[in-house]
Amino acid sequence: MSQLTGIAASNGIAIAKAYKLAIPDLSFDKKKVDDTTSEVERLTKALDVSTSELEKIKEHARASLGDEHAEIFSAHLLVLSDPELINPIKDKIETEQVNAEFALDETAQMFIEMFENMENEYMRERAADIKDVTKRVMAHLLEVSFPNPALIDEEVIVIAEDLTPSDTAQLNKQFVQGFTTNIGGRTSHSAIMARSLEIPAVVGTKAITEQVKEGDNLIVDGIDGKVLINPTEDEINEYQQKQEDYEKQKQEWAKLKDEPTVTKDGTHVELVANIGTPNDVEGVLNHGGEGVGLYRTEFLYMGKTELPTEDEQFDAYKSVLEQMGDKPVVVRTLDIGGDKELSYLELPDEMNPFLGYRAIRLCLERDDIFRTQLRALLRASTYGNLKIMFPMIATLDEFRQAKALLLEEKENLTKEGTEVSDNIEVGIMVEIPSTAVIARQFAKEVDFFSIGTNDLIQYTLAADRMNERVSYLYQPYHPAILNLVNNVIEAAHAEGKWAGMCGEMAGDSIAIPILLGLGLDEYSMSATSVLPARTQMKDLSKEELASYKDQLLSMGTADEVEAFIREKTNQ
Ligand code: PEP
Ligand code: MG
Repeated sequence: MSQLTGIAASNGIAIAKAYKLAIPDLSFDKKKVDDTTSEVERLTKALDVSTSELEKIKEHARASLGDEHAEIFSAHLLVLSDPELINPIKDKIETEQVNAEFALDETAQMFIEMFENMENEYMRERAADIKDVTKRVMAHLLEVSFPNPALIDEEVIVIAEDLTPSDTAQLNKQFVQGFTTNIGGRTSHSAIMARSLEIPAVVGTKAITEQVKEGDNLIVDGIDGKVLINPTEDEINEYQQKQEDYEKQKQEWAKLKDEPTVTKDGTHVELVANIGTPNDVEGVLNHGGEGVGLYRTEFLYMGKTELPTEDEQFDAYKSVLEQMGDKPVVVRTLDIGGDKELSYLELPDEMNPFLGYRAIRLCLERDDIFRTQLRALLRASTYGNLKIMFPMIATLDEFRQAKALLLEEKENLTKEGTEVSDNIEVGIMVEIPSTAVIARQFAKEVDFFSIGTNDLIQYTLAADRMNERVSYLYQPYHPAILNLVNNVIEAAHAEGKWAGMCGEMAGDSIAIPILLGLGLDEYSMSATSVLPARTQMKDLSKEELASYKDQLLSMGTADEVEAFIREKTNQ
């Protein structure tokens, strides 16, 4: 057996066979064929198999994600049955006596180029559909297996270079026991999704797709960040034991589900959870979350062919607010761009997408998109305890502009006779160092801060959060981060506002004592981290940890900080 290490992205142990999620090699040679009739038959068969696969995937998407998400597969099915595309492929086989692979590729390329050059956005999207569908048909012609994550019907561990949010959304939790990828970090979106699906995951292994063959036996240890390839009998026994211990530990945590979060010295802190869709709310409540500290609304926009309508968004926001009752729900406005792509928006390729056109930058320019979201949120505001926050705020002007648009839409709705809550707090995410540095100025205008350390760390240390090569620089406990976080908390408190954190650092057992000592008010984390954090808080004294504050803030390295906290908290 061999073993790979990576980044523990989602807790738990999974033991199952490997399922490779990778586009196979689709290269082929041009060949002359004599029997064109059987060549056309070969094509027809590949088209039929592709059609029946896509129908099943569409059904699966409809059942698990709703009609809107199934739409994309309807568009793919239309391509497969379009005589304007299929007939020219058959004609080419017959008249030029070429193999089906060549005829398919040439004809599809011609249409793709034609559509890509059209002005009309709808037609350009058709080019993307043809590209997608052609790959599937080509794989069937070449008789190589094409991955269909939605159709997995046995227990597997998915391995991939990376998983896109839509790949992850297709995974059926009943069968997918875990996953492991070559790239990504603890805060990459695949890792975040794994935690919300509650499946063990190890990301950033660099070489898993090279070292593992389809069907190899795997153990994914999402607690310690290890993957064992073809483990021995003894290792399997050892990990089955670890799995059982973990389950027992979960039962212990569950006892605190309905308890408030109180430290040893009686301070109450708020432990809330991050969600991506209304379906995640159940997990938040099951894991004892006291609210939603970050609703990442971009999932509403992903895996679709067009922007979600105001009503569709309203339904989603209303559903989350109603399910949460009077518990707070902090909704983040659209944060698209960077690692969160939207194919139908045709965002330009950028050298540094994380530093580029994304989040509030895009929303302020495309205020049509932004206003639709703000209206949907405002309309939903009467159904619960809504707070709105803007992502990626770098300047006070951006906040002022975003807030002005919100107020404009509120006024419009009121004029239209629609009721809107008067108690909506409006805050910002602190993800950019400039904002953390002048938090004092921001604190006079915002109602709250939520520190987005996933991005704040990558911008402060200039270390891409997706790049495992520089993951050694991705240091949550770096004194620079602690000083920025402290600055934000002090600024908030000086103005009587609250400060929360919704980056993954908020649920980290080394960071929690530090943050408690710095006076953080709200901790928003993956739902599965809430109960372990509540358990930990019971044993921490805020007063004692606050006494270490100056010492921690003046330390020189993240290692020093970590060693100090480990010693003081017996970890
Ligand atoms: C963050 O940057 O910390 C954050 C919570 O936002 P996201 O991970 O969605 O970028
Ligand atoms: Mg962010």
